[in-house]
Amino acid sequence: MTATFDSLDPATGDVAGTYPEQGPDEVRAAVTRAQEAARWWSALSFGERAEHLTRWKGVLTRRMAQLVEVVHAETGKPYGDAQLEVVIAIDHLAWAASHAKKVLGVRNRAPGLLMANQAATVEYLPHGVVGVIGPWNYPVFTPMGSISYALAAGNAVVFKPSEYTPGVGVWLANSFAEAVPGHPVFQVVTGHGDTGAALCRAGVNKVAFTGSTRTGKRVMAACAENLIPVIIEAGGKDALLVDADADVDAAADAAVWGAMSNAGQTCTGIERAYVHHQVYDQFVAKVVDLARDIRVGSDDDAQIGPITMPAQLDVIRDHLTDAVARGATVLLGGPDAVGDRYVQPTILADVPQDARAITEETFGPTLTINKVADMDEAVTLANATRYGLGSAVFSASRGAALARRLRSGMTSVNSVIAFVGIPSLPFGGVGDSGFGRIHGPDGLKEFTYAKAVTRQRFAAPLALTTFSRQPKTDAQVAQAITVLHGGGGTLPAKPKRFPRPW
Ligand code: NDP
Repeated sequence: MTATFDSLDPATGDVAGTYPEQGPDEVRAAVTRAQEAARWWSALSFGERAEHLTRWKGVLTRRMAQLVEVVHAETGKPYGDAQLEVVIAIDHLAWAASHAKKVLGVRNRAPGLLMANQAATVEYLPHGVVGVIGPWNYPVFTPMGSISYALAAGNAVVFKPSEYTPGVGVWLANSFAEAVPGHPVFQVVTGHGDTGAALCRAGVNKVAFTGSTRTGKRVMAACAENLIPVIIEAGGKDALLVDADADVDAAADAAVWGAMSNAGQTCTGIERAYVHHQVYDQFVAKVVDLARDIRVGSDDDAQIGPITMPAQLDVIRDHLTDAVARGATVLLGGPDAVGDRYVQPTILADVPQDARAITEETFGPTLTINKVADMDEAVTLANATRYGLGSAVFSASRGAALARRLRSGMTSVNSVIAFVGIPSLPFGGVGDSGFGRIHGPDGLKEFTYAKAVTRQRFAAPLALTTFSRQPKTDAQVAQAITVLHGGGGTLPAKPKRFPRPW
């Protein structure tokens, strides 16, 4: 008999659903079925695939309330937040389906003078089967950022959802099967970490992982055994910068929502704020005011829910305790704000830069605020992290300039986390936040390999790729290349004598 595991409602501990613990044999069988389905799917035209994906999009949209219910039950997040992640995921699916041809289809390339007799084209072909390993914090939006783009690019997908949100994964795969019956182009396998590890070794052609940096390294190591390429989206320690000329009320509102929404369990959540000394007091007062009013719970009026993964409670408490022990000032909440299931909003100020609340991902409804002398210091401190996922800047006059100096994959100026809702923008990080990109044209290309084709149109005037090449040809090539490229650097613009190439 297949072993099973329960997914629990984090607000109550009640069983939300029971799912099979799938082992290596079952995972391999799913990948084998996916390989067959991928042959059918990849042979369709972009337009045909878009039609299927549009049908799926319709199912997702019409049944949104059902999906929102599953997300709420498994993560505890408020219905409005659950709906928001579904809505953004649908928008991404629509974008991926409608832009795949333009981004990935065959394009002519200029052959250049040396190969003027060739026609050159490039197109982007699917890898085959993509394994997607997803997290629990945004169980629809995050994996769909890989699934939608991988499918639109012509791959089949086998998805391993987090052990905390298997029901969401099963719901998504079932809805796809309804829209695209008869071909298991998108399947789900359920289980714990071992199921994810098995997926990496089951014959997939690429793996897209979202989760912790530690597990990301293990996924990479498993994939390295068979030289399977990976995308790693591994969380962050995002900073928000507030300049002297910023709209302080807007910055405070964004900081509080960026740090506290989804109970802080957001990879691009704001965890640190660096604020110009001229507006520091005003910012701090406003942030504390707003954060104090956030309603925590699971009733209809709650704005943030429970901590989905119980083990995270200890991490949050440890970070807060460590910061206080190192001299941080508690402005709201604190270590005692961490309960059995819920964490009350917590604001810390003057947090030393070596505190864990500054150096490690906290993933709770907490925010550290530090005063800076100027924006150079703000940039230096924001960049002093191993992570580099997202960031935000509030500044009236130099937002874009400051944004460019921040070492992170995405930055919002005068707003927070706005980049996730723009399907044409790439999403991904640097450093311990991982590498590779989902979303947008980069996200589509991430699930393909570039295929270059040359076609000889007529015999070359200079025959280069033959053993019958003559010294005269070599001399002509040297002459041509000197005319073309000899003008750069320290070389004379027009050499008096053409050098012999030997
Ligand atoms: P993990 O990185 O452990 O898990 C992420 C996914 O990987 C889950 O589906 C998990 O399955 C799976 N997995 C676990 N072990 C392996 C393995 N050896 N091979 C392949 N897949 C595996 O994250 P956690 O959920 O444990 O959260 C830990 C921390 O990660 C959080 O505290 C937070 O800081 C960060 N995090 C970041 C996220 C982001 O958005 N970037 C999302 C979630 C967490 P299973 O759940 O069944 O163990």
